[in-house]
Amino acid sequence: MYLVLQHRRECKNRMDKQSYKAKSKKRYRSKKQKFLLLFLVLAGILALGIWSQNKKAGESGQNLNSSETIKPLENAGLEIHYIDVGQGDATLLLCGEEAMLIDGGGNEMEGRIRRYLKNLGIKELAYVVGTHPDADHIGGLDEVISVFDCNRVILPEIKRDNVTYRDVTDAIRYRRAEELTAKVGEVYPFGEASFTIVAPEGSYEEFNNHSVGLLFTYGETRFLFVGDAEGPAEEQMLGSGIDLHADVLKIGHHGSSDSTSQAFLDAVKPTHAVISCGRANEHGHPHTRVLNLLKKRDISVYRTDLQGTVVLQSDGRVIRFLTEPTLDFTSGWDLQAGEN
Ligand SMILES: [Zn+2]
Repeated sequence: MYLVLQHRRECKNRMDKQSYKAKSKKRYRSKKQKFLLLFLVLAGILALGIWSQNKKAGESGQNLNSSETIKPLENAGLEIHYIDVGQGDATLLLCGEEAMLIDGGGNEMEGRIRRYLKNLGIKELAYVVGTHPDADHIGGLDEVISVFDCNRVILPEIKRDNVTYRDVTDAIRYRRAEELTAKVGEVYPFGEASFTIVAPEGSYEEFNNHSVGLLFTYGETRFLFVGDAEGPAEEQMLGSGIDLHADVLKIGHHGSSDSTSQAFLDAVKPTHAVISCGRANEHGHPHTRVLNLLKKRDISVYRTDLQGTVVLQSDGRVIRFLTEPTLDFTSGWDLQAGEN
């Protein structure tokens, strides 16, 4: 700044009025150009900043549109992320300093889950649950168990003789994690929350009915996860005498018509339901019957196939979703028909 003023003074002395004016005009123009350039550079930096922030938030699954309109809860001690893994399940729970993962999506989702957890700064998982040995639930777990410090891995008693299952048990051995078999009635502490194993019990042909069911309690709020449990497993849970009431139900088996009986829904009496499935998937999930049941009961519905990752928070009393519920009750089959 000092140099510019000095130069201007020298010019004034040396030159006549006219040539000074001409030069000054030229200088003004070049100054204007410099300002314009500076403005463009600053605008570019700002745009880049917003883009990379959005990208980061998008990767960690936050719904950008809704986080602008829905204010996160103050003192939210529990957070649940129903991660969009296409056709499959992967749910991350955070409570105090602890994190846990229920299912890890399919094999092709390994990188996505790893990035999602890393973006949130997670290094350690207090628990990893593989609800049942189907690839769309445990496919991504071997990578999770290998990359993060996993203390305990909870699996159902039933095993499967295939590469996907062996990869998971190899990772558990490699990590020297404690392998626990899910037993109905057992209660585990998780930060200031706790969870009770509510399934599986009994023997079934379908792997789905061997799904580990978990009921979380945090203050007065309750959350139920039933993996891919179908009718027979739901009946077993209903007969167990366990109070299945939950504020939020993760709908069983991606909203399949074989799951979510009226009796089961009446016992759980959820206010909110989350459906995890791939958009226009080949199984037609979620099914019209299930969607109609939810609609008739005025249960607010969240769908990963239409809304991506769904995040909720609880302070022990209030539950807040960071995404608005969907008003779209189009079944998986109808979505598929519309896209073909
Ligand atoms: Zn499944």
